[in-house]
Formats: sequence, structure tokens, C-alpha cells
Amino acid sequence: MWKVVREVHLMQLPREVLLGENLVEETVNVAKRLGLGRKALVLYGPRTKGIAGKAVKDVLSGEYSVEGVTVKGATMEEVERVLSIVRDHDSDWLIAVGGGSIIDVAKLASFKAGVPFISFPTTASHDGIASANASIRDLGLKTSLKAVPPVAVIADVKVIRTAPYRYLAAGVGDVISNLTAVKDWQLAHRIKGEYYSEYAASLSLMSAKMIMRNADIIRLGNEESVRKVVKALISGGVAMSIAGSSRPASGAEHLFSHALDSLLEKPALHGEQVGVGTIITAYLHGLKWERVRETLKRVGAPTNAYELGIEPEVLIKALTTAHTIRPERYTILGKDGLTREAAEKAAKITGVI
Ligand code: ZN
Repeated sequence: MWKVVREVHLMQLPREVLLGENLVEETVNVAKRLGLGRKALVLYGPRTKGIAGKAVKDVLSGEYSVEGVTVKGATMEEVERVLSIVRDHDSDWLIAVGGGSIIDVAKLASFKAGVPFISFPTTASHDGIASANASIRDLGLKTSLKAVPPVAVIADVKVIRTAPYRYLAAGVGDVISNLTAVKDWQLAHRIKGEYYSEYAASLSLMSAKMIMRNADIIRLGNEESVRKVVKALISGGVAMSIAGSSRPASGAEHLFSHALDSLLEKPALHGEQVGVGTIITAYLHGLKWERVRETLKRVGAPTNAYELGIEPEVLIKALTTAHTIRPERYTILGKDGLTREAAEKAAKITGVI
């Protein structure tokens, strides 16, 4: 007799995604629709507290028992500190009002506590606003940890628009990286037999292509620009949820960015580094890297070491060590990585150094 054993593939997705204006008031309705418990914990940063954090806390206080906490950075200590507040306060759910690090801390703390969290991004600079992965610094090293995606994403375009334009341009870099991330994923599928989802890959690629087509709208930095970038970032997050891994939106260009993070005291924005990494890895894949660079240029995102504020020597070091960051993630860099000569050549040809 045949026995067919199929591995269960779990897809966890946000239940609500709101994209619009003046959504602070809406947080109550979202929580009600999702049937979230009585006790809420609002996380914000020192700056995002004033931008929307305190307003969200005040609005929720009308209906819920609310505590607020100022998070100082995406570190394991902060995750543990939030976790102890969750336990002391017996919080039923969390809402993160902020950029990358606040959302990452909420994501991991809520996962560890086994309670849901809502993502209320104040920037559109990376796809972590809707994904299940949290980027946390632990013992000096930044690592990407698997958690769960937010139960809801509330993206207020007016709030996001108040962030410096640089963040939106960085968001473009994080979306455009889907192009090479998917190529790396296909490579790993063919060479290592890794699971591959055509559906997730298509969704991820579509976001990158839409961003490339809309570069001229995005550069205006208006509310429509924010909408375009946020939609693409959320689709990337959803693609990762469908895949059950960050594969559709994270390949060698992300390893390069992680390598830079570990080499630098003050790295550039995640999306900025990843965008430059995409130019180089697109070249390595034999893709039309000029189009990647053109899009980044058009939206005003960095396209070389100088604009990133990074020494060429450090950039080359990151290229030659990127493959060691996460050895199980097979990419175009292969098992042995780039030689110094190859890294220099790729960086020079693409105008990155
Ligand atoms: Zn990213």
C-alpha cells in the first residue's frame, strides 16, 4: 500500500491591513473586530511617542486598560524588558507604533509571550512592518529571528509621510531586493532541493516590478508615493508568510547588508544597504543590474559606497564575507563566497566603488 506523507505547510498572515489617513482612531475598531483582550501594551520609541504613539495610547485608553513603554532599540535586553512588562501587566496584546526596531521588539516579545501584536509603522523603510521575521541585536550581533506576523497592519500614510524622505527611498531598496532574492531562492531550489513556492515568488517579484514602474511617482514623496511603497512592502511580507520563510525577499543582497551591519559602528539604513547589494547581486546573476541602479537613482536612494557613507574597503570586505553570515542560506555567493578580485570587479563594473 502507498502511504503519502505530505508535510504540513503553515501560512500565517495578518488578518487586517489598513492603508489610509487618520487611522489612529481606527486602532480601537481594529482591536474590537479582532476580538483582542482587555489589556493592551503600546510600544513606541522616544520620537514616535510624540508622532503617534501617545495618541494611539490615549485613543485605546477609552476602551482598554492600556500601558505604554518606550523602547530604546532592537536588542534582546529590550525584548526581555518588554516581556517582563507584558507578564507584570498581564497584557493580552501589543501594538507597536514606530519604525523598524520598535516593531521588531514587539514582534519577538509578543511571539515569546504568545499574544498577538498590531503593527502601526511610522516609516515605510523595510518589509518587516508586515513580516514574521524580527531583526534583533543579541550579544552585539544582529540576527533575524522567526516570530509571527502582526495580526493587523495599520499604515497611516499621513503619519508615514512625516518621516524623512530618506526612509521611503530605503523602502524602495528593500522591495527591489526581491528581484535577486527570488533568483537566489530559485538557485537554492535547483541546487539544494529547497522548498520553492511559485506563488510566493511571483507575488514578491510583482512588488519589485511595480516599484520599478512607479519610481517617478515615488520620488515625489507625497501620499501616493507612500501608498505605493507601503503596498509593495506589505506584499513582500505576505509573500514571506506564504513561503513560510524570508526567502522571497531576502537573498545574497541581504547577507551583504548583514555583513555591513557587523563591520560598521554606524551602518546605513537596512533598505539603503540592501539596495546597493541588489545592484551587485543582480550583476552576479546576469540580470539587468542597470535597471536596478536606475530605479534607485531615480528615487534618490544610494547607489554606491560613497553615498552610503561606507569606505570601499569595508564594502569589499562585506562582499567577500557575506556568505559566512548565514551558511545555510544558499545564494549566488555559493559556499565559498566571492574572491577579493571578483568582489572588486563586480563593485567596479556596477559603479558601486
Ligand atoms: Zn529587508
